[in-house]
Amino acid sequence: MKTVFSGIQPSGNLTLGNYIGAIKNFVTLQNEYKCNFSVVDLHAITVPQDPAALQEQSEAVASIYIAAGIDPGKANVYMQSHVRQHAQLGWLLTTLTSMGELERMTQFKDKSAGKESVGAGLFVYPSLMAADILLYNTDLVPVGEDQKQHLELTRDLAGRFNSRYGEYFTLPEPYIPEVGARIMSLDDASKKMSKSNPNPGSAIALLDTPDEIRKKISRATTDSGREVKYDPANKPEVSNLITIYSQCAGLSIAEVEQRYEGQMYGPFKKDLAEAVVGLLEPIQQRYRDIRESGEIRSIMRQGAERASEVAERTLQDVQKLMGFLPE
Ligand code: ATP
Ligand code: MG
Repeated sequence: MKTVFSGIQPSGNLTLGNYIGAIKNFVTLQNEYKCNFSVVDLHAITVPQDPAALQEQSEAVASIYIAAGIDPGKANVYMQSHVRQHAQLGWLLTTLTSMGELERMTQFKDKSAGKESVGAGLFVYPSLMAADILLYNTDLVPVGEDQKQHLELTRDLAGRFNSRYGEYFTLPEPYIPEVGARIMSLDDASKKMSKSNPNPGSAIALLDTPDEIRKKISRATTDSGREVKYDPANKPEVSNLITIYSQCAGLSIAEVEQRYEGQMYGPFKKDLAEAVVGLLEPIQQRYRDIRESGEIRSIMRQGAERASEVAERTLQDVQKLMGFLPE
């Protein structure tokens, strides 16, 4: 059976962008692939995190995975830090990565821009991400469009390892949805929606109340035109809202355009808010049930145990190929 790996950082409240770009596809893929869905806490600490908040967010992300429909009987759900081989292989791959490659990463440029002090972890993040993926000899990586460049580096590192030490790693393929791979901020359609954006109005959080969702959508930026038309170059804000609508209501872009032909933004936004509320309410209900049941810790423990078996085998193989003395 082919293998899938993906992860989400417990760096804030998950957004609709995380759901549409990533989690939604996790749920589809779990039926056909051996899936590993990690809560990547080692990545989250590449920017400062409050320890208590990190703990809470870690449980929240894992619980959202389950609430969104990931079946822990099919897929491994676990904390990245609980499978120690991630950090170990991360170091080995860091030594294969060049500074120039890391300097070209747009995520690093975006996240370090304007900062007085930038952690070295943020810089080497892509090597750790490569390790996350290669540890399981992953075939497919469901991610949003922003992760494409990191995935290309992962393939380069796998190829470099293979040519230096012998064919070992599978070169993973990205799985990027055709629609919704880059949901934009509600207040600025030139930036992607991000859970670490400090402006709460920029993103719909998966755990926002129906009223918060309605308020955020009614305040979302549009343009001075009046056509509900998908045209990302000229109408980026409205196009983004159409994309969200299409993904929440299960309609094509053309169907959304058709439905609002000749109508103004008001009724469109109103219906959009209800489509988002309709999608999120059942997820939120299941989320509350899971948190109350207290089951998530044991789900993650089992996930980590199963993932560790594969991870340990890979790490031992890699160390042997690189010339490390066996223990
Ligand atoms: P942060 O701001 O902390 O980096 P984030 O919202 O970018 O948070 P990540 O944990 O970095 O979330 O990414 C988790 C997954 O969600 C990745 O697959 C990423 O590509 C996807 N993703 C993130 N933002 C979006 C978005 N706006 N649209 C679609 N997919 C997204
Ligand atoms: Mg991100």
